[in-house]
Amino acid sequence: MLREELVFVGTCDIAGHVRGKGFPAREIDARRRKGIGWTHSNLMQTAFGPILDTPFGTAGDLMIVPDPTVEVRVDFEDGSAPEHFFLGDIRNTDSTAWECCPREFLRRAIAVLRAAGGVRLVAAFEQEFVYTGNQHRDGDAYSLNAFRRQGTFGESFVAALRAAGMRPDSFLAEYGTRQFEVTVAPADALVAADQAVITREMARAAAHRHGFRACFSPMPEASGVGNGVHIHMSLQDASGEPITHDAAGRMGLSMTAQHFCAGVLHHLPAICAITAPSPVSYLRLTPNRWAPTLIDIVQQDRGAALRVCPTFAPDDSADVARQFNIEFRVCDAAASPYLALGAVIFAGADGLQRKLGLPPSADGAEELPHSLGQALDMMAASKAVAAWFGPVFLEAYLRHKRSEVQHVAEWAVNELCNRYAEVY
Ligand code: GLU
Ligand code: MG
Repeated sequence: MLREELVFVGTCDIAGHVRGKGFPAREIDARRRKGIGWTHSNLMQTAFGPILDTPFGTAGDLMIVPDPTVEVRVDFEDGSAPEHFFLGDIRNTDSTAWECCPREFLRRAIAVLRAAGGVRLVAAFEQEFVYTGNQHRDGDAYSLNAFRRQGTFGESFVAALRAAGMRPDSFLAEYGTRQFEVTVAPADALVAADQAVITREMARAAAHRHGFRACFSPMPEASGVGNGVHIHMSLQDASGEPITHDAAGRMGLSMTAQHFCAGVLHHLPAICAITAPSPVSYLRLTPNRWAPTLIDIVQQDRGAALRVCPTFAPDDSADVARQFNIEFRVCDAAASPYLALGAVIFAGADGLQRKLGLPPSADGAEELPHSLGQALDMMAASKAVAAWFGPVFLEAYLRHKRSEVQHVAEWAVNELCNRYAEVY
């Protein structure tokens, strides 16, 4: 069969989908600076595809410029086209950053954190999804049997992650129906977000080669548990030394980490609309699903919004400091990792700048928003969020998500879950 290799350049957008365009791989050098043509309203494509509302109309030109450090080329060696793509930045035609570029949003957050005392954030994404190649059987949760029945999907997936430049940490059969979980090794914030995007795509790519799907919808079935995206975070000083831990601090947290976490909790009602950005996200954030429902930080509690994680068999105090991390659990895969991590970092940096303190105890913690509509109202009311986004991006984000809320308003819970399971 006559074939010529293609390559795709894209970004993970407001809907959390990777969108962009492809071209012949032999043209890549000519495309490095010019990327692919894009337009402002492309950002307004909803999870379901159609642009339901846009402040940009049909006018304007942009580029998605590939980041040379984020090239994925994974050949599954089954005769299928290699997965060959770049992630990149949305730029104006004069090469300056577009104010609504999701990846640029994260870069700006990282810069603000760095300005707040030279702090760097390292993150590891732990992501849950449903592999449709497994038939559900009662008793599957964490079982070797479910792990076995996914066949060679797991091996293809892990090999693809490694070929894409990641260090896979774990792959397991999770608690939910046909649910699996994958974690890759920590990396600097921007790299970690890129890798979170690539991890989802490699899961989909490996599942596709097996004739099935990897579904990352936050709540694939109304009666089950959700698919969470847990972001493990630790802080480092400018020289790369870990600064999250202090044995004498509250819950073992250094003052820097306490301020950071206090900022995240303070802004959580408003950033929920970014980290849990779909109507079905709020079916996940309900009691008895091992998902958070309160604006709280608790040591080693998987029901908390922020979980202070344990350290495992540490060799010494330096090892404790290295392992010590905080897990942000109010996130799911309807969110672009760039926007979710960016919002958390902006919030944490604000806590650091203002030296916010943690609440004295988890008793009396406020509830998380109960719907995307409610979260969007909180977001719209936040002066801080407005400053992080800027007026154009903020309006685009709110209009995008409010049009989605309106689009699905008549769907009953089962239809809602089914339709979101189709698109994520
Ligand atoms: N599935 C749960 C969630 O939606 C998390 C389960 C776990 O603790 O890993 O976040
Ligand atoms: Mg899990």
